[in-house]
Amino acid sequence: SSRSLQFQPYQCRWRSFSTSSGVGSQDASVEQTSVTVAQNVESPVVVVTGASKGIGRAIALTMGKAGCKVLVNYLKSSKNGEEVSEEIEAYGGQALPFQADASKEADVRSLIKAAVDSWGTIDVLINNAGIVHDGLLVRMNNSEGRQVFDVNFFGKRLCTKAANEIMMTKNKGRIINITSVVGLIGNVGQADYSASAAAIKGFTRSTAKEYARRNITVNAVAPGFISTDMTATLSEDYKKKILDTIPLGRFGQPEEVAGLVKFLALHPAASYMTGGVYPIDGGLSLSSIL
Ligand code: NAP
Repeated sequence: SSRSLQFQPYQCRWRSFSTSSGVGSQDASVEQTSVTVAQNVESPVVVVTGASKGIGRAIALTMGKAGCKVLVNYLKSSKNGEEVSEEIEAYGGQALPFQADASKEADVRSLIKAAVDSWGTIDVLINNAGIVHDGLLVRMNNSEGRQVFDVNFFGKRLCTKAANEIMMTKNKGRIINITSVVGLIGNVGQADYSASAAAIKGFTRSTAKEYARRNITVNAVAPGFISTDMTATLSEDYKKKILDTIPLGRFGQPEEVAGLVKFLALHPAASYMTGGVYPIDGGLSLSSIL
């Protein structure tokens, strides 16, 4: 079936980069350390859900460029998922494209198992897969609302539980949830979507408290309007209206979100950050949050 899991390891290549030790060591430009090790000694294993397009794709490429081993999950876009993996390979990194529905328990188990079977562990989970069903609540049916929660909340919950089983055995890990700034400020036509994003805020804070004693950090990133397929369908009129409410006067780029995720996932300074929900929204939330 089209949902069957495709397991396609890419050739491992060797490369050198500057690092100190373990997760959080790959940002050589910031860290300015002179210790050089072979990539496969320390390179963190990163699982990115929904990595075939948009923000997830930018995150997977950024992590691949940073020297990580990246499991590139997708649902339907197999060609895109494979292209992302090939691009990581072209940088000299390692990638594994993997088809799985992040909202289905059996698929999530296979996804986590694939990363562990290939690379022995999971250091970083990036819960990015998400969908929108926009419309005024009066016009939305209940199944659409449930579907949004299934992917945007329960999918992240399933992946978190499965990855945590691996991370807790070694007392080390970082989890980053991609939520949305509308979960903090609300939005007309996005009652279900913003509620699922707000749920992730509470989930992030609670799991941060639960996992802290295992040295596993959990943070969330809350993008505003970012130029991806998800926002490409907005009407020009609506886009213009939104732009007027964004102090920086533009949509964000997926690479900008990926830069923040990379910091939270890899940088040594982020090892003392947990339970945070960080807007990256061009100032959109400023007028709404006191
Ligand atoms: P996008 O361009 O629509 O891409 C969504 C990605 O998620 C695709 O790779 C898609 O895979 C994957 N996906 C969807 N359902 C999945 C499932 N059940 N299992 C596995 N993968 C699944 O979206 P985006 O704009 O990059 O958004 C990424 C995340 O950022 C989402 O969580 C979204 O809520 C959040 N966000 C986006 C914005 C924005 O303005 N774009 C703002 C705030 C928050 P396939 O293509 O294979 O189906």
